[in-house]
Amino acid sequence: MSLIVQKYGGSSVADAESIKRVAKRIVEARRAGNDVVVAVSAMGDTTDELMDLANEVTPIQAPRELDMLLSSGERISMALLAMAIKSLGHDARSFTGSQAGMITDSVHGAARIVDVTPVRLREALDEGAVVIVAGFQGFSRESRDITTLGRGGSDTTAVALAAALDADVCEIYTDVDGVFTSDPRIVTKAHKLDRITSEEMLELAGSGAKVLHIRAVEYARRHGVTLHVRSSFNNSEGTIVYDPERLPEGGAVEESVIAGVAVDLGQVKITVVGVPDVPGAAAKIFKIVARTNANVDMIVQNVSAAATGRTDISFTVPKSDGEKALTALSDAQESLGFESLQYDDQIGKLSLVGAAMRSAAGISARLFEALYEAGINIEMISTSEIRISVVTRADSVNAAARAVHTAFDLDGDDDAVVYAGTGR
Ligand code: ASP
Ligand code: MG
Repeated sequence: MSLIVQKYGGSSVADAESIKRVAKRIVEARRAGNDVVVAVSAMGDTTDELMDLANEVTPIQAPRELDMLLSSGERISMALLAMAIKSLGHDARSFTGSQAGMITDSVHGAARIVDVTPVRLREALDEGAVVIVAGFQGFSRESRDITTLGRGGSDTTAVALAAALDADVCEIYTDVDGVFTSDPRIVTKAHKLDRITSEEMLELAGSGAKVLHIRAVEYARRHGVTLHVRSSFNNSEGTIVYDPERLPEGGAVEESVIAGVAVDLGQVKITVVGVPDVPGAAAKIFKIVARTNANVDMIVQNVSAAATGRTDISFTVPKSDGEKALTALSDAQESLGFESLQYDDQIGKLSLVGAAMRSAAGISARLFEALYEAGINIEMISTSEIRISVVTRADSVNAAARAVHTAFDLDGDDDAVVYAGTGR
């Protein structure tokens, strides 16, 4: 008998009909003789709607209460799903993250899993029940409060359950057929990958690809969990996210140079204008930014104008970190000695990812050529071993993604299908 962990995203359980459809799938897996543990997201756009509601009540929410509020979305879907399975004649039991033993630190809104103690889940499985767990949430022993894992965190719940229960498979069910070479909502010619290495998946997720939560990919990599990302709307094989080092003998596959193109519209650019070009200037600036916990991504320093001995330093941070970084720098203007600050929230980031970039030549030249031909200006560039990212204007980044996708021969024959969801 195998143990299967399945995760269903919000668009797969958006309404009563979808919940019944998903219940049938789960029952099929159970009838095939497997133990089944399900992590479920909140229905449709519930989490966003709860956020909207909180914002209507007050623009600044107490983090503890926000987690209480947001974690309720998953409690709705877990209970309804358990009811639906029971109505099909199978025992099912739902558990909150806390009941399931998802122990986290006490950082509200971005809690990390520190331990998983699935005692009650094991008991329920032993009694023959299908187990449904509310995704995206946990419990802190320190603060004794409910926490959430960050937006999209139900993937991480599923992976953590799979690792703790030593599951045979961890299936992530979503509204597309798997991991695509780009977001099918932006690049309609994107094609589904049969396999992708966890390293590439990590870079794509970190570059704005929304199909998997980055923390889930990290967790899976660390605990050796192989993921199968697939559609809940059909029975097609999806994408296997695997660690090549753990691949059994003879299982190696020829890697394609490029795994995908990701777009990120969630960053802002801050430019510190007229910084004295002396040793230690950058250190001072980024120390101040670091103290705000802002997550700096790309950095560019211009050549200083010889006449003034001053230079400009630009960097990007997630939109949610932008204001506080700006305020902290502004407060330190006198000691840093710069002239002014610029804040730009109209940027887009495009990233090209592929493990074989390590050994392939001419990738950046081809990327820049494609952008040039599409008439798109590059504002910043950064690279890692297996990724090249560029910043463009926000309103041209989607066109840039399509141009680059074509230039690297990634276009599929047919348009990609998106089965559900608002993409919110
Ligand atoms: N419901 C949460 C969100 O929308 C968690 C998840 O869907 O994974 O972010
Ligand atoms: Mg969701």
